Amino acid sequence: MSQASRAAAPSPAAAPAPGALPSYLDPSHLGPWGIYLQQVDRVTPYLGNLSRWVETLKRPKRSLIVDVPIELDNGTVAHFEGYRVQHNTSRGPGKGGVRFHQDVTLSEVMALSAWMSIKNAAVNVPYGGAKGGIRVDPRLLSRGELERLTRRYTSEIGIIIGPNKDIPAPDVNTDGQVMAWMMDTYSMNQGSTATGVVTGKPIDLGGSLGRVEATGRGVFTVGVEAARHIGLDVSQARLIVQGFGNVGGVAAKLFAEAGARVVAVQDHGGTVYREAGLNVPELLKHVAEHRTVAGFADGEKIADDQFWQVDCDILIPAALEGQINKTNAGKIRARMVIEGANGPTTPEADDILQERGVLVLPDVIANAGGVTVSYFEWVQDFSSFFWDEDEINARLVRIMKAAFNAIWLTAQEHKVSLRTATFIIACTRILHARELRGLYP
Ligand code: GLU
Repeated sequence: MSQASRAAAPSPAAAPAPGALPSYLDPSHLGPWGIYLQQVDRVTPYLGNLSRWVETLKRPKRSLIVDVPIELDNGTVAHFEGYRVQHNTSRGPGKGGVRFHQDVTLSEVMALSAWMSIKNAAVNVPYGGAKGGIRVDPRLLSRGELERLTRRYTSEIGIIIGPNKDIPAPDVNTDGQVMAWMMDTYSMNQGSTATGVVTGKPIDLGGSLGRVEATGRGVFTVGVEAARHIGLDVSQARLIVQGFGNVGGVAAKLFAEAGARVVAVQDHGGTVYREAGLNVPELLKHVAEHRTVAGFADGEKIADDQFWQVDCDILIPAALEGQINKTNAGKIRARMVIEGANGPTTPEADDILQERGVLVLPDVIANAGGVTVSYFEWVQDFSSFFWDEDEINARLVRIMKAAFNAIWLTAQEHKVSLRTATFIIACTRILHARELRGLYP
């Protein structure tokens, strides 16, 4: 980007449009944290005696807001706001990703950290929940600026992270390179190399085979299990996917290999459609080159709002929060929604889908494959002994299947949605650990 266009770029902490209330002051806007609190309220009646501890889940244990100043390439200084929230550490150290996005807020990071607590307990990995983020549009930064931002942020949150305290990982707009800078910064400050401080690292720095694909593989694994329960033949299924990065792209590839037809894909650049099924490997190549599905020659461009009504069996939202809401939930034709993203369905939409008999596989189990392989990476780093990819994938599939089937049984037993069932299992585990540990002092 030229210096001139940089100068014209919006200020990182740009105020909302005049007259518009910021979302956290708008009473009609529940927001991700409000949504999470509602989910906890829904599960409380199923927690028995443990419900006396439920308030623990409604308050993040620790929230850190940091100023992240960096020198831009043009010599000026820009300030960004960063966060790291540790929602709960009853079952182990905090664990969860770091996102770089222009819409990141404290309340969003709080909700994402809480969903990590639920997710980690749902697949029974020995972690609490945490999340971090910086309010920044990383597309407006050069590589050098991105590195300085990452390093300063890591230094600022260095007081609360560590291999035994809280272990960040990639999330929206962060990747193995960002994790390498985080690992290096933390290690430099410590005086020795600590590979276990972050997961999702490049393989040559203690990363794990299979980690990049793990979230998409987990989405596919639970999707196949659920399809079996509802008598849906995956090899004949029609699939639509929103978001075609690490999660949506990998899940689409695995479903296509199993015979499913991927008829529509949407991302930030547009929507492509092909009745006979898109060629997923070719579309992945196109995205690697152009960073969007838009312009893919072997498909038809359709309007973005038409995506939701495409006839399909399976819908995978794998982008951002709040994408399935009361305006589009009534149009969705899928039999099953697999939440690759975190928080893609608003509570109103959840109710509409349930009334219409659409099965929703909630984020807190559907996308737990990523953190499950993060756990494997952390274990491998500690033992300095690395497993082969077949072993990692086999262990991942075993954990995801067992967790999903336990959730399925709980949902049947209590006649509740899979989301509430996942919360029942996870909250019970967290609060049981909390009770065993007792209140200090
Ligand atoms: N950011 C991913 C998630 O939301 C992975 C977190 C991790 O591996 O710690 O689950």
